[in-house]
Amino acid sequence: MQQKTPLSNSELLLETEKLRQNLELLKREKFDLEILLETTTVHADLVEAQLHESNLQLQLEVRERKAAEAKLKASENKLKALLKTVTKANYDLKIILETTTVHGDFIEEYTHNLSIRDPLTGLFNRRYQEKFLERHLKYAQEHQQNLSIIMGDIDYFKSFNDQWGHQAGDIILVEIGKFLIHNVRQSDITCRYGGEELMLILPGTSLEEAKNLAEQLRLGIQQLSQDKPDQFLQKVTISLGVASFPEHGLSSLEITQSADAALYRAKAKGRNCVITASELLL
Ligand code: GH3
Ligand code: MG
Ligand code: MG
Repeated sequence: MQQKTPLSNSELLLETEKLRQNLELLKREKFDLEILLETTTVHADLVEAQLHESNLQLQLEVRERKAAEAKLKASENKLKALLKTVTKANYDLKIILETTTVHGDFIEEYTHNLSIRDPLTGLFNRRYQEKFLERHLKYAQEHQQNLSIIMGDIDYFKSFNDQWGHQAGDIILVEIGKFLIHNVRQSDITCRYGGEELMLILPGTSLEEAKNLAEQLRLGIQQLSQDKPDQFLQKVTISLGVASFPEHGLSSLEITQSADAALYRAKAKGRNCVITASELLL
């Protein structure tokens, strides 16, 4: 083994200097590293704090957004419900409009009928009868035509009601109304003058023709009650008074009074008969 030659003094000094310089370098490096470490630590804390802050902010935003979304959803639901209501209302309105448009004529006719017809029998009411008589009397005067009226009154109707009930009486009224409508001309007007009093207005009809018609109606009504023995067993009859223009009056009032007087006479004579106003003069 070779023996290492001991260093000379100068070499030792040189070596010591080198070591000192190295140590110096290492110290600086250590110092730099320490600074770097400190900076990194401080920076990391800062970054962490910022991250935490950002996270909090984010959570807040998420909460706010969720609340806003919930509000939006609620508004959307409300809007949907509103839209549904509006659509339904719109649909209803369309139907109403359609009904009103398509059936306008029908509604007009229906309301017109309500104002001119008696609801029980469907015959023309007293108000319409007066208008009609005025109008046709004027026409008859202007065109020198005949016009007759027949007034009818159901016999002993009070006792019929007493015995069979008011509802049965109503049915009789309806039946008589139907019978009259089906047994007069289309140009004749059948009216319910009062409770169980009826009036027929017969434009262009002479006294003789009206008397014949009244007799037919009387017989028909008498038959009518006998036709339904199972329903209302009591026979119902009617008394009739006939008057004509111009023989028995020139105004609607005079003619009506004449027919009424004839009817009164028919009642006095025993009912279930026809009397004309001419017979009152005999
Ligand atoms: P007359 O032979 O003298 O005409 O006798 P009447 O009993 O028919 O005459 P009165 O005037 O004494 O009575 C009329 C009856 O007619 C009384 C009333 O209750 C009945 N009457 C009137 N309107 C209606 C109605 O709408 N329905 C019913 N069921 N009866 C009615
Ligand atoms: Mg009466
Ligand atoms: Mg009567």
